[in-house]
Amino acid sequence: MKDLFPKNLIVRWNEALAPSVRVVLATHINPDGDAVGSLVGLGLFLKQQGFKVSMICPTAYPDFLKFLDREREILVFSQKREQVARKIEQADVTIAVDVSGFSRMEEMGGLLSGSGAFKVLMDHHIDPEAAEFDLVFSTPLVSSTCELIYRLLRIWKPEAVFSKEQSMAFLTGIITDTNQFANSVYPETFNVASGLHACGADTEEIFDQVYRNFTFNRMRLMGYALQNIRLLPEFKTGYIVLTRDVLDAFGYRNGDTEGFVNFPLAIKGVSVSAFFLQREDHIKVSLRSKGNIAVNGIAKEFFSGGGHYNASAGKMEDTPEKIETLLKEALGTIIA
Ligand code: 5GP
Ligand code: MN
Repeated sequence: MKDLFPKNLIVRWNEALAPSVRVVLATHINPDGDAVGSLVGLGLFLKQQGFKVSMICPTAYPDFLKFLDREREILVFSQKREQVARKIEQADVTIAVDVSGFSRMEEMGGLLSGSGAFKVLMDHHIDPEAAEFDLVFSTPLVSSTCELIYRLLRIWKPEAVFSKEQSMAFLTGIITDTNQFANSVYPETFNVASGLHACGADTEEIFDQVYRNFTFNRMRLMGYALQNIRLLPEFKTGYIVLTRDVLDAFGYRNGDTEGFVNFPLAIKGVSVSAFFLQREDHIKVSLRSKGNIAVNGIAKEFFSGGGHYNASAGKMEDTPEKIETLLKEALGTIIA
């Protein structure tokens, strides 16, 4: 297994994790499979090594990821503010996972940033906010944060045996972040997946939980989304808009639109897809692309966000009527 990071970083990590320190693992708002997989996989591993571990996130994760958090250990800041604040206050070491810095953790990020704990970052996004941390494990040359953490743990504790729960968590992060091994896959990704499978990660169970676990409402909402894809052939783009009234009509719940952004990309000739989800005070924008078309630039410039080359996101404050004009303006800067 190729080393991702120089030895001196592993030495510093080992020093920071002195016996019996209290460790808090934290991730971004609206946690996805890689975020929850990283929290649970690393969290359970560190517990197994004897550390006192808390796992926290700013807002709730979707129901279809509950199978990873079997003991319901993840504390959600928006639901248990005092408890989470206390954990942060008592932490000796904090580890931010699957996020480039504290800014994508809203108010909880402020508490973490202000704490006196030793701060570690483990992430695969570009442009890590490195100055906020004492130790940074960050590279975009991996499929996911779960892959990065697994590889790091293998180097740190070569003899350790990963439990089924830990392996399931890491493999779920890899499967979801790569869109089922379609994007951001590196040669080592498959070795890691193989290692996790050998440790008991059950791919069929992961697929049952993540992709074959729709409520009837969610399935019907998917039908609506598919029926309402709008095409912009001149930009090789397809996009979907789901407004509040539609979401309400289908009894929308957090996580119900997971993966919808990928639908337009399945259409022949479409290289960019965009998905617009109206939330209470803004419209969440997700962008995906194929091949050498980068969407992170327009996510940053037009939608106050960012992300990866082929998978980015952001938001807009305008009304849904403004979507097409803004999208065309953004696409005009990347597609001739
Ligand atoms: P998604 O469309 O799945 O919500 O997000 C796609 C990717 O965009 C995420 O994996 C993450 O890297 C990035 N991303 C999502 N929201 C934001 C944001 O608000 N700011 C930045 N910089 N990146 C984001
Ligand atoms: Mn990720």
